[in-house]
Amino acid sequence: MSPATGVITAVTGGAESERHAGTLRVLAIEDNLGDARLVRAMLAEAAPGAVVVDHAPRLTTGMPGLLDGRYDCVLLDLSLPDADGLDGLAQIRAVAIDLPVVVLSGGTDEQLAMQAVQEGAQDYLIKGQVDGRLLYRSVAYAIERKRAEVQLAHQALHDQLTSLPNRALFYDRLGQGLARLKRRKSALAVIFCDLDRFKVINDSLGHGAGDRLLVAVAARLSGVLRAGDTAARFGGDEFVILCEDITGEQQAIEIAERLSEALRAPFDLGDDEAFVQTSVGIALADGCEARPEALIRDADAAMYRAKERGGGTYEVFDDAMRARAVHRQQVEHALHRAIDRGEIEVHYQPQMRMTTGSLCGVEALVRWRHPEHGLLMPDAFIPAAEETGIIHALGLHVLEVACRQAAAWQSAQPATSVQMSVNLSPRQCQHPDLVPTVADVLRRTGADPALLCLEVTETAVTEDLDVMGGVLAALKSLGLTLAIDDFGTGYASLRALQRLPFDVVKIDRSFVTDLHRSDQEAAIVAAVISLAHALGKRTVAEGVEVIAQVERLRSLGCDVGQGFYYARPCPAGELGYGL
Ligand code: C2E
Ligand code: MG
Ligand code: MG
Repeated sequence: MSPATGVITAVTGGAESERHAGTLRVLAIEDNLGDARLVRAMLAEAAPGAVVVDHAPRLTTGMPGLLDGRYDCVLLDLSLPDADGLDGLAQIRAVAIDLPVVVLSGGTDEQLAMQAVQEGAQDYLIKGQVDGRLLYRSVAYAIERKRAEVQLAHQALHDQLTSLPNRALFYDRLGQGLARLKRRKSALAVIFCDLDRFKVINDSLGHGAGDRLLVAVAARLSGVLRAGDTAARFGGDEFVILCEDITGEQQAIEIAERLSEALRAPFDLGDDEAFVQTSVGIALADGCEARPEALIRDADAAMYRAKERGGGTYEVFDDAMRARAVHRQQVEHALHRAIDRGEIEVHYQPQMRMTTGSLCGVEALVRWRHPEHGLLMPDAFIPAAEETGIIHALGLHVLEVACRQAAAWQSAQPATSVQMSVNLSPRQCQHPDLVPTVADVLRRTGADPALLCLEVTETAVTEDLDVMGGVLAALKSLGLTLAIDDFGTGYASLRALQRLPFDVVKIDRSFVTDLHRSDQEAAIVAAVISLAHALGKRTVAEGVEVIAQVERLRSLGCDVGQGFYYARPCPAGELGYGL
């Protein structure tokens, strides 16, 4: 007996007290010395040399040994002088939640023993109804069962790929952190990290390499955090970090910089090397009643801002961003209602053949007839719609109205074919359901696909030409036409123009404005027109306002003109042209 702890150690069947690999170490907490001896003797007989049994006659004498994880299992008597009934079990679980427990009860307490299993014990045995084999099996079973329980709990709360905590566990820890914050003077930070261009790496190097990269990123992020911090993976390439006990914004920024720095060195992915850059959003809470969802949303919004600035940087969520977020939410809500209440209108602007001056098409342009603010132009609400994602609902609505209109004109005037152009926003182009959605609208409205042209703004042309090309090809397979809009304002390469299946190039208004006054502008427009023609594409000039521009465009061979010189956008009923 060691006087310090009051715990008596013996190996079954032998006198050594060391723990061997493969040997189980069991603590019997049992006030009846005879029962304790019996336990030891039974285990010695059933599994000679396989189990070390320590004995503690009281819960208090056993407790210290439970803290350092030296035991594989506890045999717990349910009637101890210092812990009666389920109380002992609760105390053990409070200090060693993952330790398997087998309870021992008298024959009259079977009910209580079963209750103990409900409260977290792995098994129970009735004294006097136990032999060595049964006891040994029960201990082994309890250990195995506990292991499976721990593993299941881990799986439910961790990301399988990286083993980092998942969203559920992160929310839980954040909730606890916020509760603790009320009692402390420090601050807490949620740091949202999203890898830039991960999709490109994933698509070009393959998903296996993408997975290896995510695992390596997780390891580097965890490596720079302090012991109490939590790094979680929310899915995809989103990592979220919780830092408690920080002094404030400056320290959060330092942590964000450390995280970015850790990802700077190249990643070795076997055959390939990858460079990773990350956009980071920071949200802070310092004592007030922040809610976990709100804090994560704020960090996400800040991350989004960092991305908008080109990535590879961080942003701290501040009041201006909060105001913007609130504004966005209001616009989103208002737009939802506007669609439902029929406040969204579509106006049409004619497009004319330059050679003959006859009508060949119209562009559908969205308008919001706001009950208080009057007729709103797209610039007032499209950016917010794009940011919030309600652009999908809005764009679908415009597409439906325009297709219905095209079908109506065609059935009224089968001889004249007027092409209907509809704008697609960048976010719509990225939606996985874009192609089936468009197909569905065509089917439902009965519009002729040959009369539909979808305009994709140049800035939506991504670096990944394969992905973009796939989407555009799928759209074209529906039988419609594609235009690249606002050409010249983005950075689409000549390669993009050659590789992507656009039929029409719309020359941005900014080049047309000074076309008739500036030889340089005229040279650019001439170059775009001949390039487009060389690639077999038609050209439409936007923003034609005066006759001098018309003449210049005509001499440069531009196919179609659109602008106030011909007509302003207006409701379908006011168009004229015999429609
Ligand atoms: P956009 O696609 O380049 O459309 C042409 C814009 O130029 C329209 O502005 C039109 O009214 C304007 N415009 C046409 N001719 C002239 C002219 O001679 N002079 C001047 N100064 N402007 C002219 P609007 O209707 O305000 O639309 C602005 C932008 O909003 C559009 O540019 C388009 O990118 C976007 N948009 C409009 N409707 C939709 C829609 O239904 N969905 C999406 N995603 N975007 C839309
Ligand atoms: Mg357009
Ligand atoms: Mg345009």
